[in-house]
This record gives sequence, C-alpha cells and structure tokens, in this order.
Amino acid sequence: METCVYINGKMYHEREQAKVSVFDHGYLYGDGVFEGIRVYNGLIFKCREHIDRLYESAKTIYLDIQMSREEMTQAMIDTVRASGLHDAYIRLIVSRGVGDLGLDYRHCKKPTVVIIVDKITLYPPERYEKGLKVITTATRRNKPDSLNCQIKSCNYLNNILAKIEVIRAGADEGIMLNNSGYVTEATADNIFVIKNKTLITPPSYFGILVGITRQAVLDIAPDEGLHVETAGILVHDIYNADECFLTGSAAELIPVVECDGRAVGNGQVGPVFKALLKRFRQKTKDDGVQVFTD
Ligand code: PMP
Repeated sequence: METCVYINGKMYHEREQAKVSVFDHGYLYGDGVFEGIRVYNGLIFKCREHIDRLYESAKTIYLDIQMSREEMTQAMIDTVRASGLHDAYIRLIVSRGVGDLGLDYRHCKKPTVVIIVDKITLYPPERYEKGLKVITTATRRNKPDSLNCQIKSCNYLNNILAKIEVIRAGADEGIMLNNSGYVTEATADNIFVIKNKTLITPPSYFGILVGITRQAVLDIAPDEGLHVETAGILVHDIYNADECFLTGSAAELIPVVECDGRAVGNGQVGPVFKALLKRFRQKTKDDGVQVFTD
C-alpha cells in the first residue's frame, strides 16, 4: 500500500477513486484551508502545531470544521496507518463543501475533509547539496489587509503567479516582496539569512505564512550559537548575506546560493546551514505523534 486518501470518513487506495464534487466551493472558489505535514519514521512531525494552524485558518475564514482537533488528529493517524508509509507527506484539506454556484457559504452545509497520504520530493536531491538559484519576482505577496498570508488557504494564485515567473526565468525559486519592497518569503517556503552569526527572518506582519518549520529553526538556532532576530530584510541583505536558506514542511531546509545573479556568500552551501540541517533532522526523530503502535 502507498497512497491513501480519506474523504469525509472513507478511505480510498486508488487515486482515481478519490474524488470530490465539482460543486464544492473549494473547487469553485479556492474556499478552504489546508496543511502540509511530514511523517518521519512513523511520527507525525509537529502534529499539534499543524492542527492548531488549520483551525486558526478555518476560524478566520468563518469555516466550522465540524470535527474536534482530537478527531482530526485521529483521522490523520488512521490514514497514515492505512497507507502503511512510515515516511510520508500528509496533505490535510478542509474545504467549504458542496454548495450552489454563488459565493454564499451558507449553502455549503458540510465541509469536505480530505487527508491525502503520499510520498513527496519537492526539489531534486542535488539542490540540497549544491543550493538553489533564486530570483526576486515582480509579483508582490498579497497585502495582509486584503488576504492575510497567515491563512493557509486553498487559494494559492498569488504564489502560483510568482512560481510561473520563476519557471519562465529558468530559476529554482522565487523570493516575493511585499508592497513596501521588503522580503516576505519564497513561493511556498519561508526565508532566512545569516549575517555575522545572526539569523534573521521576516516577522509575520510583513505578510508571510508563519511556517512551522520556520519556528522549528528559530527554536534550534540558539543551540548553534546564533543570535536570532525577526526583522525586515531587503534584497540587499540577501545579496550580502553570509548564507541564506528556505524552510517548509515539504522542502525542509534548503540552501540558497544565488539571488538575481549575485552569489550569496561565497556561492557555496555554508557551514551554519549544514549545522542547522543536522539539528533539524535530529528533531524530526523525536518530536511527533506516533502512528504505528507495534
Ligand atoms: N510559506 C508558504 C506560502 C507556504 O505555503 C508554506 C508551506 N509550504 C510555508 C511558507 C512553510 O510553512 P511550513 O513550514 O509550516 O510548512
């Protein structure tokens, strides 16, 4: 067994059979919220943090999930168990549910809960060793007062527009700025720079998704002797950083060695990144909710 999909309480092992209605407002409008979560060696990494963020996103979009956090966690455990995968990626999606063709959420009586358990590789393995070449994108990150980036919603067009630029430019990733020209994040990952043993990442109010991997890195950084700051970053700071890297549940920690044609540091993957990655990997071994009991 490999892929397993839970849809409103039912499990499917064939991708072709895992289907939702075209009248679901998740499909019609991107009206829903989601999480991307990792399972390492049978442990759901940062499970509570992901569940909490899902329920916070849902609350902000006025979506009543109609399942408790405990029930949702159990459904996730059951789906991972049914997949038989000990190392996996979980995509947890709660959409508004089936309604009519208008925007009125009140016609959607029951949210659709989908849990996909599968394998994932986001970037080719050599990018983790050699680092990413990134560009800054012309597409600005959503203004938080229009669509708050802290809501992990099913509407990713802002990010996809930036990703299209990245692909068309032949780069590996894109760095999105906010309307004031400050760095926010990559298209689906948070960003960090290191300068003189200080680790810096933008604060939530600059318009970012407050990543769970980002927090894990902030937590382990002091053990590496780093001073930690959440502060504004300009592209100048990326160009002139000692090191730069991205974080996300799917990507984990991935180094950036070039930005807009400028080498970051000496253009090689740096020692601080390597040390942080080592500590992060250690954390994934003992920080999670256990799926398999035997
Ligand atoms: N920013 C965006 C826009 C994302 O979609 C993600 C998740 N892929 C992240 C940052 C990283 O968040 P996390 O570490 O919680 O996966």
